[in-house]
Amino acid sequence: MMEQYIEIKAANPDSLLFYRMGDFYELFFDDAVEASRALGITLTKRGQHMGHDIPMCGVPIHAADDYLQKLISLGFRVAVCEQVEDPAEAKKRGSKSVVRRDVVRLVTPGTLTEEKLLSPSESNYLMALARIRGGGEAQYALAWIDISTGIFRVAETEQSRLLADILRIDPRELILADPVFHDAELKPVFDVLGRTASPQPAVLFDSASAEGRIARYFGVGTLDGFGTFSRLELAAAAAAIAYVEKTQINERPPLGRPERESAGSTLFIDPATRANLELARTLSGSREGALLRAIDRTVTGGGARLLAERLMSPLTDPARIGERLDSIGWLIGEPDTVSSLRHLLKRVPDMPRALTRLALDRGGPRDLGAILQGLVAARELAGRLALAPLPPELAGALTALQALPAGLEETLAQQLDDELPLLKRDGGFVRAGARADLDEARALRDQSRRVIAGLQLQYAEETGIRSLKIKHNNVLGYFIEVTAGNSDTMTGTPEAKARFIHRQTMANAMRFTTTELAELETRIANAAGEALAIELAAFGRMVEAVVAEADAIKAAARALAVFDVAAGLAVLAVERAYCRPQVDGSRAFRIEGGRHPVVEQALFRQGAGPFIANDCDLSPAEGGTYGGVWLLTGPNMGGKSTFLRQNALIAIMAQMGSYVPATQAVIGVVDRLFSRVGASDDLARGRSTFMVEMVETAAILNQATDRSLVILDEIGRGTATFDGLSIAWAAVEHLHEANRSRALFATHFHELTVLSEKLDRLSNVTMKVKEWQGEVIFLHEVGPGAADRSYGIQVARLAGLPDSVVARAREVLTKLEDADRKNPASQLIDDLPLFQVAVRREQVLAGPSKVEEMLKGINPDDLTPRDALEKIYALKKEL
Ligand code: ADP
Repeated sequence: MMEQYIEIKAANPDSLLFYRMGDFYELFFDDAVEASRALGITLTKRGQHMGHDIPMCGVPIHAADDYLQKLISLGFRVAVCEQVEDPAEAKKRGSKSVVRRDVVRLVTPGTLTEEKLLSPSESNYLMALARIRGGGEAQYALAWIDISTGIFRVAETEQSRLLADILRIDPRELILADPVFHDAELKPVFDVLGRTASPQPAVLFDSASAEGRIARYFGVGTLDGFGTFSRLELAAAAAAIAYVEKTQINERPPLGRPERESAGSTLFIDPATRANLELARTLSGSREGALLRAIDRTVTGGGARLLAERLMSPLTDPARIGERLDSIGWLIGEPDTVSSLRHLLKRVPDMPRALTRLALDRGGPRDLGAILQGLVAARELAGRLALAPLPPELAGALTALQALPAGLEETLAQQLDDELPLLKRDGGFVRAGARADLDEARALRDQSRRVIAGLQLQYAEETGIRSLKIKHNNVLGYFIEVTAGNSDTMTGTPEAKARFIHRQTMANAMRFTTTELAELETRIANAAGEALAIELAAFGRMVEAVVAEADAIKAAARALAVFDVAAGLAVLAVERAYCRPQVDGSRAFRIEGGRHPVVEQALFRQGAGPFIANDCDLSPAEGGTYGGVWLLTGPNMGGKSTFLRQNALIAIMAQMGSYVPATQAVIGVVDRLFSRVGASDDLARGRSTFMVEMVETAAILNQATDRSLVILDEIGRGTATFDGLSIAWAAVEHLHEANRSRALFATHFHELTVLSEKLDRLSNVTMKVKEWQGEVIFLHEVGPGAADRSYGIQVARLAGLPDSVVARAREVLTKLEDADRKNPASQLIDDLPLFQVAVRREQVLAGPSKVEEMLKGINPDDLTPRDALEKIYALKKEL
């Protein structure tokens, strides 16, 4: 047995080996040590290997999914090794033969199908990255598959946006060729991805054999009917398929045909922006508090997944965005349809995932039940909408529902019982009356059970033992049981002894059988066995019928998700008074009455007063080509970050095809969205906060275009004042002059506001505050102009800084401000503004004072006592 184990383990060195032994999966050697630690289960030992104890641990089969889930979420891969022959067959080969075992499946994060291992509202993508290095620059393609639903997409990408594209799809597992993984240039990408990235042998990515592999998987002669793909895209797609084959061994999940995502069709959101804007998760990693949670009103798993996908990949084509908005608009006008739609949708189970499990022979009766329930809901929903004047997107979805074959629903409904067991091997899922042969076998089984109940009565009377019972267990089958005190009656006479055959003596009971009972038992077992065989055959035929319609079922499930997303967004729009954004090909960005979708809801829930709506207008001026830059100043806690983020989120929501939290919104399609907000700490990767800030700022200044939207929050904060101000100054100039992006720039360097004199598309705006009896009141209102002060000291006081420190800070501030008034920043804007600003600051903070300058000019040896006295008077005056 150990020899077999070692051989199989050697073939699967990267995975923990779950080795089937009876009702357990057992792990040995280092696997056992690692798994017992990860799972918190006991480590024992079993036998010896080369004179050492073999460490071992085990998990029971029935709980294996729970343990698998934990291991997978910790980043392990698991090879499941089963017995692949009957123990009887092994015996035939010789008494010492070991039952043949083989790995039947590799469980990896990207190839899960079990309900327990998947989150209903999240996709579970396996992604393959392919690279070709021709003469010039390296080119990349990505292919991603969710085996649990069959979604399969490919897209080309380039090195500069590789990480962004990967994070947009957020795969659970990324496979790539070994040499690519070890390419130093790509190290930063894989550092971010951590254990998600899994290097594989380069042969998997061979582009020459790619087309053949894909065609074989789909059982077609050529890929001509699939659309056009580049060689690189085919290599990525084939690698993903090869990995599915490698992990699923003999099973072939039903995948959709690969769909190509064309370059530039989605809004590019760079990785830092995606994280900072907290789209799917907050910076601390929680889903609560992220945008997705705040806008999700879907009622099905498929709907939730589609919504997430749309949020992660907003569109750039105004026509497609408009189609999605039309769906929401139509539904808002039909509140009754929305509520009946959602009522029906709530009953829709996860059809695609059930389908995949059935196709992989991992499904049970409840998966068939899920398909049936989905088909019924789809039919009812289609009936409800058949006559409605649907907008195009919904009309298309309706067509997919109508294309479902009616026969399948009938087949399933006629056979499946209302209550379904989890496992097919338990039987009892085919409805009574569905099949005559099954009814007969069951009747025989049940009748015999009744006869047994009669026998018990009969034996009790016959023996006069009223407590006599007929019981059943898995070892003895049916048996007669009497208490030890009554055992003499059963064995006392020769007749009794002949009739009641002794089976077992317990501490206080004795067990017997009779020929009658044994015969009945055989009849029951035969009838039950026959009933189960009939049910299993019926199960097989139902699965076949379902799998034959896999494409139609998947299309219908997708259509139901489309309805769910549109209805959910319509509900959200009504509930939160969102408006339909106008998205077009211009460079406009005009938001009226904009709100932050997450903060608004949080304030509402806490009853913490209303969210103050704010306008934002970055549209080009009359006759102008490029959008504007808003320079936002204002006190800490004034609402600057909230305002910046809300405008970015509104752009994303509009382009994903959702209504937006505003009273009016006109948005010229944004091609790339960048943000540099807050201090996302990256210290773990050995970069200081300032370094991270600069890396992110560099990415923006290098990549933003005149169709991009840029959000910059307090850049230059992480370094000395002079450096920070200079960098912020130069960055604003670059954005305005070179990138020409629409941009929001929040800063506490008030000196920057003078730039509006020089840069024509730059406007100064500020967060308004009121001062009242020495307190500041934040109005959270954005208005034109520049803040004259920071109110930092007031905020510090609110935060509980000791009074003495606050008072001292006030003194220092007054001095600094006095000096500032003598040299206002507005004088400093000329050809060398930065230099001038630096000198002024120098004087205020550290440079030689006037008194010092005067002292320097005095030579005491030249002075008469009278001159000296006069000098002292003059010096004193300067203080
Ligand atoms: P800043 O970036 O200027 O320091 P924030 O944007 O972090 O300020 O806002 C501080 C707090 O003020 C937020 O936590 C939020 O609760 C509240 N706030 C911000 N904007 C608004 C608004 N428009 N209406 C109501 N409350 C707001």
